[in-house]
Amino acid sequence: MKQRLAIYPGSFDPATNGHMTIIHRALRLFDHVVVAVARNGLKNPLFTMDERQELLKEALKGVPRVEVDSFEGLLVDYVRRRKANAVIRGLRAVSDFEYEFQMANANRKLDPNFEAVFLMTGEDYFYISSQMVREVASLGGDVSGLVPTCVQRELLKKFPRKEG
Ligand code: ADP
Repeated sequence: MKQRLAIYPGSFDPATNGHMTIIHRALRLFDHVVVAVARNGLKNPLFTMDERQELLKEALKGVPRVEVDSFEGLLVDYVRRRKANAVIRGLRAVSDFEYEFQMANANRKLDPNFEAVFLMTGEDYFYISSQMVREVASLGGDVSGLVPTCVQRELLKKFPRKEG
């Protein structure tokens, strides 16, 4: 039987528990999930491409059927090259919807076979974004519970916690 492959693209600067839950849920729907870090996109990332990929790999260590990769250029070209069945995107709030709707339609214009699957986040994760995590960490706040432990460790190296 043909294996079904999904690509989960994003910036992952850094990976959060919101991303992790989407990956685990996508694995219930697809045989393989490729987490693909976009090379173009962020102007001033906190973590380098290598760091973002390594952190995803560490956070997903021991999880079968997942691969961490990166891509450059158009997502539709990468999807075609990988012969993927669909792209996974997470939806947090109505505000995500407009952008995602626009992107999905633009991608389908570029490739009529393009298909996106949207997973709606749960109440425990809807407020978590990479940007929020970066801000909290940069101000010396506690990000435990928001990110995988390896990400927390690396954030602490960049932004030591304030005492007292
Ligand atoms: P981008 O820079 O493309 O928005 P992100 O790395 O921020 O990429 O996120 C990648 C994908 O994960 C997006 O589809 C985003 O909506 C989704 N996502 C991010 N955080 C969460 C969350 N807390 N719950 C569900 N989906 C999320």
